[in-house]
Amino acid sequence: MTTPGSYDIEALRAEFPILQRTVGEAGAPLVYLDNTATSQTPDCVVRAIVDGYTRTKANVHRGVHTLSQEATDAQEATRRRVQTFIGAESHEEIIFTRGTTEAINLVASSYCSLLSPGDEIIVTVMEHHSDIVPWQLAAERHGLRLRAIPLREGTSELDLDAFAAMLGERTRVVAFTAVSNVLGTVNPVRRIVDMAHAAGAVVLVDAAQAVAHERIDVRAWDADFIAFSSHKMYGPTGIGVLYGRRDLLDRMPPYQGGGEMISHVDIARSTWAELPFKFEAGTPDFVGIAAFHAAIDWLERTGIERIAAHEHELLVLAESLMDELPGVRIYGRAPGKCAIISFLMGPDASAYDIGMLLDQMGIAVRTGHHCAQPLMHALGVAGVARASFAAYNTADEVHRFVDALRRIHRIFRL
Ligand code: PMP
Repeated sequence: MTTPGSYDIEALRAEFPILQRTVGEAGAPLVYLDNTATSQTPDCVVRAIVDGYTRTKANVHRGVHTLSQEATDAQEATRRRVQTFIGAESHEEIIFTRGTTEAINLVASSYCSLLSPGDEIIVTVMEHHSDIVPWQLAAERHGLRLRAIPLREGTSELDLDAFAAMLGERTRVVAFTAVSNVLGTVNPVRRIVDMAHAAGAVVLVDAAQAVAHERIDVRAWDADFIAFSSHKMYGPTGIGVLYGRRDLLDRMPPYQGGGEMISHVDIARSTWAELPFKFEAGTPDFVGIAAFHAAIDWLERTGIERIAAHEHELLVLAESLMDELPGVRIYGRAPGKCAIISFLMGPDASAYDIGMLLDQMGIAVRTGHHCAQPLMHALGVAGVARASFAAYNTADEVHRFVDALRRIHRIFRL
């Protein structure tokens, strides 16, 4: 099998049992190109999950018995692993959530309760709904104003001049994605953070699409909050991280109540636990959190930079082959973009048609609005098909994907 990249792709693929699957009536070998939605999970992570259920399952933080202590130690070891992974100052700034979505909801719900009517939140037109709707809910609740940075005319990049003009003395929060899940655009995080900070706003970076493709360094970004999900970084589902600057988290009220987030409870009132537990109500997915450790280890062992270089080679190959197909239109051409290709084919094939036909040929892509309806409106489309690459994809898979597009091309006589 020919493939770019500087690691042994066959050995790496062997770590992912799901890649041996076949799909569809013809029993075609699976080509999984839906990595933006979720990435697959290597054996070492699956084994860590099995281990958690078969060896150490006991609720965390509550027991003096051995199993409970082991489960607690495993969870807290992951917290410290995440801390070093992103370069946070303290493990107390790492809060486990159910995912990026819950992490953003936590900040929107809690931080925005400190704001005053008329204060402003700025998002971008390329945000995932998870980084729009929580702010809308907070805006309605507290009388805040929500605005969005547009794309620079004719490009897939944010219009930072428009952003500069939007910033003002009422701007309190700027929330934006590091990487667009549709366009693949890599936003200039530090520049946006600096502009927001200069206006006195706090910044939340949605790192859901960045975390498995570039090294996140809290200090380099200087963001106040960062949110990401384990399942997009080869880890278990249902676990996310909110990094928050300690002084801000200290000032923020709890997001949910119950379980270990208290210091003392009376019927009349309660006091809160120290960070990070103040924001972790109820029993967490401690088995998954423990296994998340193995995913971060895997990611670092394989090398985020090497994975990104590998994905980039696949992206260049796929786009150059797709550009030769008449009628194919790619949405998102920003320089240095991530290995995400959103596309349509001629006027007659809908994104749904493309996705269904590719599936029949064993190729998994995602279709629709990708939880980015404002961006779809800006692009003037109802939806797009999206192929996205991960560490285990190969050049042969790219050729199979483009061959399949050629067949679709013939079906629709584009
Ligand atoms: N933000 C972005 C940019 C995303 O791509 C996604 C997932 N598609 C999310 C947020 C939401 O992540 P989750 O569903 O894991 O909470």
